[in-house]
Amino acid sequence: MTPERQVQVDLEAIRHNVRRIAQIVSPAQVMAVVKADGYGHGMIPVAQAALQAGANWLGVARVSQALTLREAGIEAPLLAWLHTPATDFAAAVEQDVDLGVSGWELDHIVAAAREQQRPARVHLKIDTGLGRNGSPAARWDSLVGEALEYQDEGLLRVVGLFSHLAVADEPQREETDAQLQRFREAVALAEDAGVDVEVRHLANTPAIFSRPDTHFDLVRAGVGIYGLSPFAGQTSEELGLRPAMTLKALVAHCKEVPAGQGVSYGLKYYTKEPSTLALVPLGYGDGVPRSGTGAPVRIAGGVYPVVGTIAMDQLVVDLGGRLPEGESVLGAEAVLFGAADDGDPSVDLWAAAAGTINYEIVTRVASSVERVYL
Ligand code: PLP
Repeated sequence: MTPERQVQVDLEAIRHNVRRIAQIVSPAQVMAVVKADGYGHGMIPVAQAALQAGANWLGVARVSQALTLREAGIEAPLLAWLHTPATDFAAAVEQDVDLGVSGWELDHIVAAAREQQRPARVHLKIDTGLGRNGSPAARWDSLVGEALEYQDEGLLRVVGLFSHLAVADEPQREETDAQLQRFREAVALAEDAGVDVEVRHLANTPAIFSRPDTHFDLVRAGVGIYGLSPFAGQTSEELGLRPAMTLKALVAHCKEVPAGQGVSYGLKYYTKEPSTLALVPLGYGDGVPRSGTGAPVRIAGGVYPVVGTIAMDQLVVDLGGRLPEGESVLGAEAVLFGAADDGDPSVDLWAAAAGTINYEIVTRVASSVERVYL
């Protein structure tokens, strides 16, 4: 039976995007970033598709996500970079999960390595300007020194050096140059101290496309592998990417209304002419942004706006006029977004209507909406 509501994920699009990125950054390697349940696409199927297409590494925020990937039988190198004192470092060491280290984690990781009687694999992270985690520049020297001591004791192996960019999606801004410069200095300091790493990594998706000088040995590709553009002024298609996610549902109700019909909570919208309204069973409870009024929906070959306030379980689309006598769109597919070159509205149009970014639109689609893999 056709699902009433579904997220379709085109794994061939994911594979295409990984191949495209790998080609751009070669000889650097590709880490597919699959945190936040693969940006809403499903972490395990995306990880498998990305590895099939040539990604060499996987990246996640939390150790728990990395362990889920290991439980699924994925053996590829895997980096987790966001920890708390409650993180299960012992399980990470046992499962060969590489760990990002900004400072305080080092002692916890070494304790876990002692317990597991095997060296931990770590990537030292420097904050080059983003102001989130990462060692402050002033502490870098001592972090490198401590890590080397533990490495000499056989408790860890420094596999990587990395940092994260703040404004690579705005290529005209100068701060990326400053971050790159600080990263180079941090790498040089570590290498001079005797660190010999497999991978130095800095670039995210926007830097993959706009800053070849940030590619180093490995790039961390997130939004690009899902086929979305990180740039405000450039579409996925212009970057040679294919959006992988389509969000759709079957129309739950279709009715003719007169001019002046109020629609949804707050009565913020009234029809201007006799019209046909289609009710779509997706709402903010499913992760559709409540602020998405005005966004496009494709129904029966036409594209129409969401009108009135988006509710918890449903939204209303104004088909703008009367359907021919006896016709109805009840049960027709309503596509909120998908691949623009198939004629579907883009995620970017939803992001613009909701005043957010495409990352958030796909990541927030709730797990209550069934994922179907193509
Ligand atoms: N690297 C780190 C540390 C991240 O937190 C993220 C995602 O936010 C990425 C890479 C991937 O970024 P993007 O989706 O822009 O490629």
